[in-house]
Amino acid sequence: MKKIYLSSPHMSEEGYEKEYIKNAFDTNWIAPLGPNVDNFEKEVCELTGAKNAVALNSGTSAIHLALKACGVGKDDIVICQSLTFSATANPIIYQNAIPVFVDSDYKTWNIDPNSLEKALIKYPEAKAVIIVHLYGICAEIEKIVDLCKKYNTTLIEDAAESLGTLYKGNYTGTFGDYGIYSFNGNKIITTSGGGMVISSNKEKIQRIRFWSTQARDKARHYQHSELGFNYRMSNIVAGIGRGQLKVLKDRINKKRYIFEYYHKAFEGIKDISFMPQNDWERSNCWLSVILIEGKVKPLDVILALEKENIESRPIWKPMHMQPFFSSYDYIGSGISENLFKKGVCLPSDTKLTDRDLLKISNIVKRLFNE
Ligand SMILES: *Cc1c(COP(=O)(O)O)cnc(C)c1O
Repeated sequence: MKKIYLSSPHMSEEGYEKEYIKNAFDTNWIAPLGPNVDNFEKEVCELTGAKNAVALNSGTSAIHLALKACGVGKDDIVICQSLTFSATANPIIYQNAIPVFVDSDYKTWNIDPNSLEKALIKYPEAKAVIIVHLYGICAEIEKIVDLCKKYNTTLIEDAAESLGTLYKGNYTGTFGDYGIYSFNGNKIITTSGGGMVISSNKEKIQRIRFWSTQARDKARHYQHSELGFNYRMSNIVAGIGRGQLKVLKDRINKKRYIFEYYHKAFEGIKDISFMPQNDWERSNCWLSVILIEGKVKPLDVILALEKENIESRPIWKPMHMQPFFSSYDYIGSGISENLFKKGVCLPSDTKLTDRDLLKISNIVKRLFNE
């Protein structure tokens, strides 16, 4: 029985990625840096309208160096969306700073602007705010930008899952002081592993580039006045990224098709509802996520699919519920807990056929009709 994945790498049928890699081999640009890296950065800027970009080896490194660029250091407060993957929050600890977690709202599943304002009032000294566009759904970004201005703090948009999502026609990642993307294997496009920071602040992007290549001072001998990191993307990996960018639109269209398919398939089932799609957005629908009420439990769905070799997952477990982060402050009213309890991420692989989709929806429907 062939395995159906949640979201797996999908290289272009045209073989664009291989061409860029072959070119890197032919010209011996195997080392980190090189023309693919420069062009990948340029092409992401052209696509999203970002002013400056620096390609790194992961989305996690991108968040880490964006925090450093915000000046976040020991004992600084960083306000962070609780409902997310741990990679959003871990870099706060790398910088020896202190996270304060904030709840989501039902309207966007992302950070609740009212709870965010409470956090900003409680912690006026907060150095930075990290928000997420979970599963490709837009956070209420205009309100968030205004709040960060009002309380004079820096905003990092974790757009790891939302490359290509539009808010009122503009790309997520471009609203904050910094935006980050991930090109990990399960993301909408992948380089096998990689990330990027974008910002309109050119000097800060140059600083990040400097830190990510071991913070070497301008000197013939090896001299370092600051702590460095080895976080840069390699020229091979960037070649995959350039090829993948060419098919991003196709991937988004397919992800949206999958979402629509499930939507229609489960139309009559009152215990199933879908992740939000607000008027202001065009989501990349990275994963199709449903909420389940009533006697069928999310785990029943996950196990029924697993029996047929089909991968699905619960929603991210909120950071304030994680043993590692449980000692930090949390501001909210139980919405992210509730989403975690009821949510299932359905298979959203762009290689799914209509037959696969029919099979998956029939397995789910059967549970609700029993
Ligand atoms: C994947 C992901 C990251 C981290 O990206 P990596 O490239 O895997 O380091 C960060 N935040 C969110 C929300 C993610 O889904």
